[in-house]
Amino acid sequence: MAIHNLGSINIDHFYRVPHLPEPGETLAATEYRMGLGGKGANQSAAAARAGARTRHIGAVGSDGAWAVARLKGWGVDTTPVATLDTPSGHAIINVDATGENAIVLFPGANRALPLSHVEAALAAARLGDTLLLQNETAHQAEAARQARDLGLRVVYSAAPFDAEAVRAVLPFTTLLILNAVEALQLSAALQTPLDALDVPELLITRGADGAEWRGRDGSRAFAPALAVKAVDTTGAGDTFAGYFCAGLDLGRTPQDALTWAATAAALKVTRHGTADAIPSAAEVAAFRP
Ligand code: ADP
Repeated sequence: MAIHNLGSINIDHFYRVPHLPEPGETLAATEYRMGLGGKGANQSAAAARAGARTRHIGAVGSDGAWAVARLKGWGVDTTPVATLDTPSGHAIINVDATGENAIVLFPGANRALPLSHVEAALAAARLGDTLLLQNETAHQAEAARQARDLGLRVVYSAAPFDAEAVRAVLPFTTLLILNAVEALQLSAALQTPLDALDVPELLITRGADGAEWRGRDGSRAFAPALAVKAVDTTGAGDTFAGYFCAGLDLGRTPQDALTWAATAAALKVTRHGTADAIPSAAEVAAFRP
């Protein structure tokens, strides 16, 4: 089967800083790097590197050809990535000495993607495939509705948190993925305890406290986080989401997919970077923390 990821592609500018800047503070960074990122590109990279057939639906500007080439290099089908006459999305990422991060995002081409492009790309999907989406593009709800009508699994990684987007996409969602902060935000926005949320499957990642999944029949799975030395947690959730999705697409059980995703995410946090730092299935299999 295949994963069709309607997702952002960003150019990430990384700054290593002694601490995250305070309001009004000017801070000298000790290191600068540029890389490929965006929740969409990260999750496509993770799913493809995990070994799932992965198609990326999205957009870049004329400055984004290298980003598309990078995705292609990891085995992502980038045919449905449009090149628009607007700057590519980009992010300013500060990472402090403890590996904590703070991010400023400019959406650019990600939000300018025409609906007709998304619809045409999704028309190639087949029953049983997965539509993966996040909150960094346009047309999530329309895509989710079309995917549901085509018989796809709709996996919604509802980040960055956006209450309006969640309300619109949730009715078409098969699996909702949240981190601990987003889970609290959603619960508050909908005034619903998480356990009462009307969604067939729910995955909550809790950083170093592990990740939990509940299925439509009330079945549950849990994966503790692996004990590793975290140097950069950027992209941990995306690695987890991409691997978990890929695991299910490749026929793993939810528990098995969860454990696999936790191992991949743990390996990611031992490395600097986002998409470039997401490990392959072979690296995950060989990882001994
Ligand atoms: P996000 O990146 O969206 O904030 P989390 O912080 O919940 O997401 O991290 C996602 C997953 O990555 C966790 O469930 C865990 O498996 C793994 N992970 C995150 N931080 C660590 C860590 N410090 N050590 C080991 N695993 C981690």
